[in-house]
Amino acid sequence: MIIKPRVRGFVCLTAHPEGCAKHVEEQIQVIKKSGPVSGGPKNVLIIGASTGYGLSSRIAAAFGSGASTLGIFFERPPMNDGTASAGWYNTAAFETAAHKEGLYARSLNGDAFSDELKEKTIDAIKNEMGPIDLVVYSLASPRRTDPVDGETYRSTLKPIGRSFTANNLDTDRKLVTPITIEPATEEEIQSTVKVMGGEDWERWMEQLESAGLLAEGCHSVAYDYVGPEVTWPVYHNGTIGQAKKHIRDTAQRIDAMLKIKRGSAFISVNKAVVTQASSAIPVVPLYISILFKIMKKADLHEDCIQQIDRLFRTMMYNGSALRFDDEGRVRLDDWEMRPEIQKDVLELWDQVTTETIDSLTDFDGYQENFMRLFGFGLEGVDYDADMDPNVPIPGLIE
Ligand code: NAD
Repeated sequence: MIIKPRVRGFVCLTAHPEGCAKHVEEQIQVIKKSGPVSGGPKNVLIIGASTGYGLSSRIAAAFGSGASTLGIFFERPPMNDGTASAGWYNTAAFETAAHKEGLYARSLNGDAFSDELKEKTIDAIKNEMGPIDLVVYSLASPRRTDPVDGETYRSTLKPIGRSFTANNLDTDRKLVTPITIEPATEEEIQSTVKVMGGEDWERWMEQLESAGLLAEGCHSVAYDYVGPEVTWPVYHNGTIGQAKKHIRDTAQRIDAMLKIKRGSAFISVNKAVVTQASSAIPVVPLYISILFKIMKKADLHEDCIQQIDRLFRTMMYNGSALRFDDEGRVRLDDWEMRPEIQKDVLELWDQVTTETIDSLTDFDGYQENFMRLFGFGLEGVDYDADMDPNVPIPGLIE
């Protein structure tokens, strides 16, 4: 079949296998170009491994440190001649490349929040890998069924306490219009914490520890976002911010558990990038379009892979040491948050309209990045060629 993008709002319903493979290959090359990371992880579990920050973490661990990787994700396989989701094709490409270099790379596709998937993961680690020395927790999900009470909770992206009005970018129709988001109810706040807070991360770590599968010196990291004050009502101070506060508190408990093994758990605050998760957050795509313009001009632009390469190479491994902010978090968003960058972003923030979107922001860059998430717009890919969407993941554990 000829695979074309079918964008609906902030999602693309199709994905291109060859384009996704190219996107993964480009990320592998970024890591290889920077050279090996000494003292890096050797046995890595990545929860949320198929797209965005989790995929980049997997690529950086495998191709920077020669790590064995087990990836967990929830992706749509190819069915009835429809395309799979991008994360499926990304993983197929990643594993093919890893296997070519003799690296162990296997995956489990299913609900990471369930105990069933945790048990399958534990079996696979026991049988095939041995104790894990890095657990990356990089899930972004709209819902979670809690295995303890059996309830399904939904996350919302809303302000707390009062409504919030700001300019929003409809990326599909290229329109800047004000939106007002009504404040979350107490139940919505609690549900968001249930989904995106630290409860599930802690459950993973406890179950791995009980099974004796956390190695001496094991590290675990979860990703967070803070961003500028213009997005705080809907992010940092909103429902998702409450969930992130919960995950920060959880990091301290997991850290105490790993300290006994001379390891650590921490939160890394990463920069704003275009991912399937971030494109769904109101106001954020407009902010990212402006940010890209400013950071590219300052030659400070980074995507997921450059961020994680910096984390592994200059903060976690390679003879480096973690540096924490006042709240005990690692700050990979340091370049984004530089005062001169934020000053320029803020100056543009109130000026951007539908008419000035091209001149004042990097809307084209945002769109290009978004399409690349689904394997479209990559150089050297023939998008008119007939493609077989049925691409298997070679190391998938059924
Ligand atoms: P993403 O949408 O690209 O990736 C989400 C991953 O979670 C995918 O691998 C997906 O398959 C997996 N997943 C979702 N539900 C699942 C389930 N039930 N079971 C198993 N796997 C499931 O998201 P992302 O933007 O890379 O976000 C990852 C983390 O990074 C989040 O904690 C996010 O808050 C954080 N972060 C993102 C940004 C950003 O700008 N995108 C910035 C800073 C921090």
